[in-house]
Amino acid sequence: RKKWKRVVGIFRELEEDCETTVGRLRQVVDAMDVEMHAGLASEGGSKLKMLLTFVDRLPTGSEIGAYYALDVGGTNFRVLRVQLGGRRSLILSKNVERQPVPQHLMQSTSEDLFDFIASTLKQFVDEVESGSELSPSKTRELGFTFSFPVKQLSFRSGTLIKWTKGFVIEDLIGKEVVECLQAALDRKSLGMEVTALVNDTVGTLALGHYHDGDTVAAAIFGTGTNACYLERADAIIKCQGLLTSSGSMVVNMEWGSFWTSHLPRTSYDIDLDAESHNPNDQGFEKMISGMYLGEIVRRVILRMSQESDVFGCVSSQLSTPFSLQTPLIASMHEDVSPELKEVARVLKETLEIPEVPLKVRKLVVSVCNVVTRRAARLAAAGIAGILKKIGRDGSGRSRSDTKMRRTVVAIEGSLYTRYTMFREYLQEALYEILGEDVFAHVILKVTEDGSGLGAALIAASHSSYN
Ligand code: ADP
Repeated sequence: RKKWKRVVGIFRELEEDCETTVGRLRQVVDAMDVEMHAGLASEGGSKLKMLLTFVDRLPTGSEIGAYYALDVGGTNFRVLRVQLGGRRSLILSKNVERQPVPQHLMQSTSEDLFDFIASTLKQFVDEVESGSELSPSKTRELGFTFSFPVKQLSFRSGTLIKWTKGFVIEDLIGKEVVECLQAALDRKSLGMEVTALVNDTVGTLALGHYHDGDTVAAAIFGTGTNACYLERADAIIKCQGLLTSSGSMVVNMEWGSFWTSHLPRTSYDIDLDAESHNPNDQGFEKMISGMYLGEIVRRVILRMSQESDVFGCVSSQLSTPFSLQTPLIASMHEDVSPELKEVARVLKETLEIPEVPLKVRKLVVSVCNVVTRRAARLAAAGIAGILKKIGRDGSGRSRSDTKMRRTVVAIEGSLYTRYTMFREYLQEALYEILGEDVFAHVILKVTEDGSGLGAALIAASHSSYN
C-alpha cells in the first residue's frame, strides 16, 4: 500500500491548520493594533518592540549633494554613493556595489566584520571618486543601515539588542554599533563620518517618501520581515515629553516578533521554532519570511514521506533542515508546464526524491500554495494593522465623512517582488480586509534599494553640513 490516503490526510490537516478566513485575519489586525499600543505605552509592554528611530522628518525631494550609504542586514551587504539633484526627487547619479557577506563573518567577531566592511568601502570610495574633483577637506557623510533590532539612543547611535537572520556575533550584542563601524572606518583613514543609523524599513520609508509625500509606512518581505511607520510623537507614551520638530517620529515595529494566539499555527511551525536558534521568538517572521517558507514546506513533505511511501524512501537531503529554499518553492508553485517538470526537477535535484507520479507532484504544489498563501495573508493583516493604528483603515468614520486620504505603503524584498503568488495573495487579502472603498485609496508601492538609498537620503535630509 502506498498510503496515498494518509498523505492526503496530512495535507487536509495542514490546510485546516493554516486557515486564514477574513474573520481570522481581522482578529490578527486587531491584535496587531492592540500590541502596537502596548509596545508604545511601555518598554517591554509587548512582543512588538516599537523602537524609536529619532527620524522626525522624511526626505522631501529637495535634498542636495553627494552621500554614501552602507547597508548591512541580510544575505548581501551593499555600499552606495548617490548624488542628489536638489529638486523634484532628482537622483543625478548612483553607484552601488553589492557583496555577499562571507559565511564565516556572520559568526565571527564584530571587529572582523566591520574591518571587512571598511575595506570594501575604501575600495569603493577610491573607485567612484577617482578622477572627480572632490575637495579633500570635506568629510564624507555615511548613512548606515543596520537591519537588526537596535535600541536607538539618538539619530546616529544605538546598541544591538539581538541578532536575527542567521547572524551570531556575540560580542556586538549590547554594544554601540556606530562606534564600532566608525572605529573601523577610522582605522582605514577613510575620512568618512557615520551621520545616521537606520533600519532597512526606515530606509524604504524614506525612499518612498522622497518620491511620494503620501508614503506613511514601509514593509519588507525578504529573508526576514519587518515594518515601520510614521507615528505621532504624543502617541509614543513610553517616551514622555518627546519633542520632535515635526510632531511625529518613525517607529520601527520589529514586527517579526509579533505574536497573537489568533495566528494559525501548525505542528510544523512548532517544531521549526523549537529547533531554531531563537525559539519562542520572531514568531510572525517564522510564518512569513523567505528564510522560513521553504523550510516549512520541507517539513511537510518530510512528514508525508515518513508516513507513506509515495515519495520513495526518505532521502538525506529531505531530512536536512533548510535544504529547500524559498525561491525553489516559488518555482515549483509557479510551474505552468502540464507535466510539472520544474517540480520534478526540484524534487530530484534538491531533495533527492526520484520520479513521483503527477498527482504527487500536484500535491507538492498544493503544499507550497497553502504555506505561501498563509504567509501572504498574514502579511496583509500586518499592513492592515498599521493602517488601523494610524486611522487609515476606514474604521471609525462614517461613509459620509471627509474624503478618504491617499495612503502609500512602500514595500521591498524579493519575496514580494519576485514571488508573484505571494504578492497577489497579499493584495487580495488586503482587499478582503479593508473592503473595496478603502482599498482603492491604499497604494502598495515597490521601491528599489530603499534600504541603501534611503539611508543616504536620511543622512542628506538631516545633514548638518548643508
Ligand atoms: P534580504 O536578504 O536583504 O532580505 P531580499 O529582499 O532579496 O534580500 O530577500 C532575499 C530572500 O527572498 C531570500 O532569502 C529568499 O528567501 C527570498 N527570495 C529570493 N528570490 C525569491 C524568489 N524568486 N521567490 C521567492 N522568494 C525569493
